[in-house]
Amino acid sequence: MSAAVASHTGSSLAAVGFDAARLTTGDIVSRSPIDGRVLARLPSVSRADYETALGRSQAAFSAWRAVPAPRRGELVRLFGEAVRAHKPALAELITLEAGKITSEAAGEVQEVIDICDFAVGLSRQLYGLTIASERARHHMLERWHPLGPVGVITAFNFPMAVWAWNATLALICGNSVLWKPSEKTPLTALALHTLFESVAKGFAEAPAGVSTLLVGARPVGEWLADDKRIALLSATGSTRMGREVAVRVAGRFGRSLLELGGNNAMIVAPSAKEDLAVRAITFAAAGTAGQRCTSLRRLYVHGSRYDAIVARLKRAYASLKVGNPLGSDTLVGPLVDAQAFEAMQTALAAARAAGGIVHGGERVNVAGHEAGYYVRPALVELKGPIEASERETFAPILYVFRYETIEQSIAANNSVVQGLSSSLITQDLSEAELFLSGEGSDCGIANINIGPSGAEIGGAFGGEKETGGGRESGSDAWKAYMRRQTQTVNYSATLPLAQGVKFDVE
Ligand code: NAD
Repeated sequence: MSAAVASHTGSSLAAVGFDAARLTTGDIVSRSPIDGRVLARLPSVSRADYETALGRSQAAFSAWRAVPAPRRGELVRLFGEAVRAHKPALAELITLEAGKITSEAAGEVQEVIDICDFAVGLSRQLYGLTIASERARHHMLERWHPLGPVGVITAFNFPMAVWAWNATLALICGNSVLWKPSEKTPLTALALHTLFESVAKGFAEAPAGVSTLLVGARPVGEWLADDKRIALLSATGSTRMGREVAVRVAGRFGRSLLELGGNNAMIVAPSAKEDLAVRAITFAAAGTAGQRCTSLRRLYVHGSRYDAIVARLKRAYASLKVGNPLGSDTLVGPLVDAQAFEAMQTALAAARAAGGIVHGGERVNVAGHEAGYYVRPALVELKGPIEASERETFAPILYVFRYETIEQSIAANNSVVQGLSSSLITQDLSEAELFLSGEGSDCGIANINIGPSGAEIGGAFGGEKETGGGRESGSDAWKAYMRRQTQTVNYSATLPLAQGVKFDVE
C-alpha cells in the first residue's frame, strides 16, 4: 500500500474507534481506486454468523418497537451528532475507498447528517389519518406500526449516504436494520457502523443488534433476499441486481424497495442561459467521474444552440483537472476499478462504430498513481440513439443529440427503460410546465435549470420503470418502513353493520 494512502486509512479508522491493524485477513479486499493498492482485507460473514445476527436482530426488533418513536429519534439525533464530530475522517475514508473528490465526499457525509436531522423531526410526526365512519358512535383511523428487521443492500458509489437514508428512517419507525454494504467499500461501512454502535451502546433503550453490519459479497445479499424474516429489503445497485432481488423477494411475498440504475437526460432549450447550462452539464456528467445513479448521460440540445454549447463543453471538458481525489483542485477522480474502465472503453468503441464522434474518453496518466483508472470524461456526438446510449455505463460518457421541438425532446427523454432523473434548461415557462406535467418527463425526479444529479434529502428519492419504483429519504418515504393498519372502534351499545347489512340474531 502506498505509505500516504495507508496512513490516511489508518488514521481515519482510528478516528472512529476502529483498529485498522486488525484488518489483514479475509476474502473481501478493499482497494483504493486512487492507486489500486489493497487498503485492508476483511472476512465475509459466514452462514452461521448470519443466522446469529438474524436472531439478534429479531430480538432487537421486539424490544425496539416498544420504545416511543421520539426516543428512537433521540438515538438517531445522537448518531447525527457523532457523524458531525467525525465528518473529516469519514469523508476521507470515502475518498480513499470510493475515489470521490474531497468536497463530494464531505457532501456525502453531510447527507448522512441531514437525513439524521430529518429523521429526528419525523420521529414526532408519524402521522396517521382519522376517517369519518358511516356508523354512529364509531371511529375509524389509520395507524402506522413498525415492520420488522429491515435489510439494506448498498452500492459502492454512495457507501454511507444510502445506508443512512434507509437506516435512520427504519430506526425511527421502530425497526431493526441489517446492512450489507458493497464488497468494494467495506471499510467505509465499518467506520460508519462502528460509530453507530458506539452511540447505541451508550443509549439505554437501544437493544444489542438494533443495527448490524454484514460484510460480504453477493451471496450475503441473496440470503437477505430469500429470508422470510426480513420484513423489507431495500436494495440499491444495478438494474441487473434489482431484477434478481425483486424476483427472489416476490417469490416469498416479501416487500422490496428498489433503487436501481438510471440513464438520465437533460434538454437544453433555445432560451437556456448558456453559462448555467454548461456548469450544470459538466457537474452532472463529469462530476463523481460519472459514477452517480443520477449522473447525466444523455444531452438533447436545441438545433439553434447546438454548435455553441458543444464548443463550450469541449473547452470545459479539456480544462477539467483529472487526478488524485485528495488534491484540493481535482474535479474528476478515478473510476472505481479496471472493470469500470473496460466498460467505458467498450461503450466508446461501440459509439465510434455506430458513427458517433467521440471527444475525450482516454486514460489519463496520474504520476505516482499509475495503477488507478483515471479518464478524461467523454463527449459523444450522435445523430440518434444507439444501443450504448440506451443503457447505463457507469463512467463519464455524455451522449449528445440535436433536437428541434420540445415534444420531440421530451419523447427522447422518456424513450429509455430507466426512469430516475431528468432536467430541462429553459427560460420559457410553457416549456418548463409541459416538462413537469403529466405529459412531460416520466422520471421520479424532474428539474428545471439544474442538472439531474445532486438531490436534497427533503424530497422522495427514486425512479420509475427499470430504476425500480422505490422511494427513499424525504417526503413520505418513511411509510415504506412501516405497516399500515386500519382500525375501527365502536363506542355505541349496538352493532350497526356497514353498508346497511342486516344480520339480526335472537
Ligand atoms: P451492483 O449492482 O454491482 O451492487 C450493488 C449491491 O448489490 C452490492 O452490495 C452487491 O454485493 C449486491 N448484489 C449484487 N448482486 C446481488 C444479488 N443477486 N442479490 C443480492 N445482492 C446483490 O452495483 P454497484 O456497481 O455497487 O453500484 C452501481 C449501480 O448502483 C449503478 O447501476 C447505479 O445507478 C446504482 N445506484 C442506484 C442508486 C439509486 O438510488 N437509484 C443509488 C446508487 C447507485
